[in-house]
Amino acid sequence: MNAALIHPDTITKSELKEFAPIVAPQKPKPRERLFSDRTYRIGSENAFRIGPQIRELELQGHKVIKCNLGEPDFPLAKHIADEIKRQIDLDLTHYCDPQGILPLREAIARIVSRTRKIDVSPDRVVVFPGGKPPIGLTQQTYCNPGDEVIYPSPGFPIYESFTGYVGAKPVPLHLREEADFSFSGRELAPLIGDRTRVIILNFPSNPTGGVATREQLEEIADVIYAKVPDQARIYSDEIYEDILFDGNHHQSIASIPQMAERTIIVGGVSKSFAWTGGRVGWAVFPTREEAAVFKNLNINYFSCVPAYNQMGAAVALESPLSAEEISRMCDAFSERRDLMLAGLNAIPGIRCRKPGGAFYLFPNIAGMCEELGAIEAHKKMPAADRERSSPSTLVQMFLLWRHQVATMDRRSFGSIGAEGQHYLRISIATALDDLKIGLERIRNAADNIDGFQNFIKEGKHLC
Ligand code: PMP
Repeated sequence: MNAALIHPDTITKSELKEFAPIVAPQKPKPRERLFSDRTYRIGSENAFRIGPQIRELELQGHKVIKCNLGEPDFPLAKHIADEIKRQIDLDLTHYCDPQGILPLREAIARIVSRTRKIDVSPDRVVVFPGGKPPIGLTQQTYCNPGDEVIYPSPGFPIYESFTGYVGAKPVPLHLREEADFSFSGRELAPLIGDRTRVIILNFPSNPTGGVATREQLEEIADVIYAKVPDQARIYSDEIYEDILFDGNHHQSIASIPQMAERTIIVGGVSKSFAWTGGRVGWAVFPTREEAAVFKNLNINYFSCVPAYNQMGAAVALESPLSAEEISRMCDAFSERRDLMLAGLNAIPGIRCRKPGGAFYLFPNIAGMCEELGAIEAHKKMPAADRERSSPSTLVQMFLLWRHQVATMDRRSFGSIGAEGQHYLRISIATALDDLKIGLERIRNAADNIDGFQNFIKEGKHLC
């Protein structure tokens, strides 16, 4: 449970009761306080936070199978790397346009126009250091305290994390396993209210791998059209648009009539080009005025994104060599997905749906939690520890410390209302041979009841 997510000032008394477990603990008295109130309300991305624990195990001589990070394990393609080096040699190493250099914005506008069948001009495109920054900046820009942000849960943790920071009310849209972790307009409709300002969509999805069909997006669009005022924005995080399996094609809500006018389309190079260190992402805004506001935020926060990387990104988007690289990467992910899916489903106590895109599996481990005694162990924890944990967190810790497989628990993908949901996210952005070892270790862990009980007794699950 992320105790620092909601601030009492931004919600009503009855809501406070509903969200009681996640309201921040007593803040220090004003004079003793080091940080601003909002600083106590931001969450985090746990996939990064378990890095030190993994390093501790590695220093002890263990090989850890890293299924925690959402980072393709492929090198940057040569044609992109060559372009970056060439631009550095040309001394493209100085300040540049805070909105993003024109050749990249033109490339993005062309590609987004072609693939979404809409008309995008470069002055509506803003380049950011990755696909992550526009999440928080969007909430800051469109939400006043008390305004509402609807976001998928389980979902990328930064969506929920920022709601607390900006004082918005988080409205999780719970994705159900039975519906393949997707949702329809019917599930969205009751969450929409007068104060809805931002609705976040993420297909293909992290952490579930869910993809959307055109019909589904049409139905969602109907609800948005009927119930959401024109000024509210759909934030469509399409960063996994190229990582698709089984002949799936990417569908964007911006392609549905009347939706482009209210949708912020977000993408980046991190996933499609295995280039997480490039820190190039972008957003296409409905209007030039909105793009100008974000350009000004860029000026305030970081001035600009390195121009040589932006030139590399333009080549990545437009070179005919890129499609082949993406398709090779998707083939590898698809092979790994099949192996892990079959392997996980063969372990008693685990059942897993087949993801249609991205590079994650999101198995239901309720049976494993029950069998190991994780549900009981969680119940017996002191209240303060219990709130920050869950049965799947205990299993995640057990897998890491005792079996050296790094995974992520359900709570890491939105903690509000996640009680009683027992899932893990397993990233398949790891070599096939390592995944085979990881699978074997998970199988052994699922059987290791005594080991789990000892692990809990020793208290390592609290580390
Ligand atoms: N959105 C989603 C859904 C993601 O999974 C990620 C990365 N894990 C991002 C945005 C951010 O990506 P970037 O590295 O480009 O900031």
